Amino acid sequence: MPIAENIAAVRERVAAAARRANRNPDDITLMGVSKTFSVDAIRQAYAAGLRVFGENRVQEAQSRWTDRREGLRLHLIGPLQTNKARDAVALFDVIETVDRPRLARALADEIQQAGRAPRLYIQVNTGEEPQKAGVAPGDADAFIAAATREFGLEIEGLMCVPPAEEPAAMHFALLAKIAQRNGLARLSMGMSADFETAIRFGATSVRVGSALFGGRHYAQPSAA
Ligand SMILES: *Cc1c(COP(=O)(O)O)cnc(C)c1O
Repeated sequence: MPIAENIAAVRERVAAAARRANRNPDDITLMGVSKTFSVDAIRQAYAAGLRVFGENRVQEAQSRWTDRREGLRLHLIGPLQTNKARDAVALFDVIETVDRPRLARALADEIQQAGRAPRLYIQVNTGEEPQKAGVAPGDADAFIAAATREFGLEIEGLMCVPPAEEPAAMHFALLAKIAQRNGLARLSMGMSADFETAIRFGATSVRVGSALFGGRHYAQPSAA
């Protein structure tokens, strides 16, 4: 299916899920996860009205988002190395993967230097998977407090990627609970397979790749 049709279909599903949850569909942002897809695919999505895009890697994003377009918002949704903090601050409008004090400090430094402040989310490793980025749920409150007070960062929300082999609902519920008790308004959760469930649990943005762009073809195993 052409990308424009996929976008329309996913938008309909987002709106329907919102209505089922007694929520306003306008309160949910559809993010197109464009990692590994061609620049042509991104152009088609932009032409079809999509304005929020997510990328996993700083370098890949830099190579593809050189000419910034009108109204565009670019989110980093993959792990961020401290030595790429400067590039990330320069390129992204939202960094969703803040997850450790060293990174929080590096971002605070770079934001001050650059005079440009991307909006920030903290990633929570809700499934406590060793191979996955994110702060452990039990450490989340302390880390949110430290990011705010110690490093002076303005944290807007939380993000999670639930374990592939578990029902996502309990992970979304956990993320929503952590956000609520810390007074954070934004929840980035839900992907192609489970964005409707995420909306039920309060997602304010859903990160959708394959349902918009089709299957991903990796040329080589991902190092992420
Ligand atoms: C790839 C990716 C997505 C999108 O996944 P799909 O299943 O293709 O929708 C969302 N979030 C993150 C963090 C990703 O890496």
